[in-house]
Amino acid sequence: MEIVKGPISLKTVLNEVRGKNLVVGFVPTMGFLHAGHGSLIETAKVDTDFVVVSIFVNPTQFAKGEDLEKYPRDLKSDIEYLETLGVDLLFVPEAEYLYGQNNEHSTTVSVSAINKVLDGAFRPTHFDGVTTIVAKLLNIVGSCRCFMGMKDAQQVSIVYRMVRELFMDATIVPCPIIREVSNLAMSSRNTYLSDSEREQAKSIFTALNHIGTELEHGNKDIDALLNDGMSILIRDNLEVQYIQLIEFESLKEARELKEGQYVLAIAVVCGTTRLIDNFFVHVGMDNSIYIDRGKVFESSGDE
Ligand code: AMP
Repeated sequence: MEIVKGPISLKTVLNEVRGKNLVVGFVPTMGFLHAGHGSLIETAKVDTDFVVVSIFVNPTQFAKGEDLEKYPRDLKSDIEYLETLGVDLLFVPEAEYLYGQNNEHSTTVSVSAINKVLDGAFRPTHFDGVTTIVAKLLNIVGSCRCFMGMKDAQQVSIVYRMVRELFMDATIVPCPIIREVSNLAMSSRNTYLSDSEREQAKSIFTALNHIGTELEHGNKDIDALLNDGMSILIRDNLEVQYIQLIEFESLKEARELKEGQYVLAIAVVCGTTRLIDNFFVHVGMDNSIYIDRGKVFESSGDE
């Protein structure tokens, strides 16, 4: 696996790759990799010819007082993991390559229509940081298929819109949520959880699954179902930031389910750790409901 640190070097390598008519697959990450990231990479391996992974803990998406400094990092073991997955190239830029010396950069990309709801309501500067870094990375990588996890469904919706409205040369490929055996959505931040907090966190999936199953059985009382979900979370002492059913594209609250795509989304604070999770809800023309709950990671036993 080639490791590249500079944007210009990366552009040069990838222009050569595309010159051979190969399709570039790109997986942006903040590192401390787990099987959730691995599933994006495996999909990219099947779907494209040359897979690039970036690892960059992006400072602009963390607000003051958030966990930028303590965010877990382990580049050595990430490199070993990426080697086993057969990644072609790892991009590990220094912050100054992306934001200039002394952080002198002045351009911010903001998808203002949908970046202040859900997570944006609790992390008001977060998505401007995300869209700015993803725009920079996609401009450096150039024409590609970019694989993103539905764990961060709002992020996918916002990046979709940015790519469309800025005519960027990338196709965003959403990938399902990968869960631990307990059904907790995998996240680099799960490492902050104590054993008892991991137990408490199980009720996130319980709440989602209760609502999802009721929707599948034809229950249409969305307010009552969200209240049920809220009770489940509160019962397990989770501090609920939101539990909402939203339209995937507009991120507007859904009062009823018509043909379309929705996200049943939860954010809680468990101890001191903020956790997000969701189910993706498809409603067909005939009002049939299909719910994507994600997949539990089956360890091969030699991890
Ligand atoms: P991060 O390193 O947390 O910024 O995540 C990098 C990419 O991996 C994003 O597209 C995330 O949505 C995706 N990702 C993180 N955790 C999971 C998961 N449990 N399942 C699927 N994708 C994930």
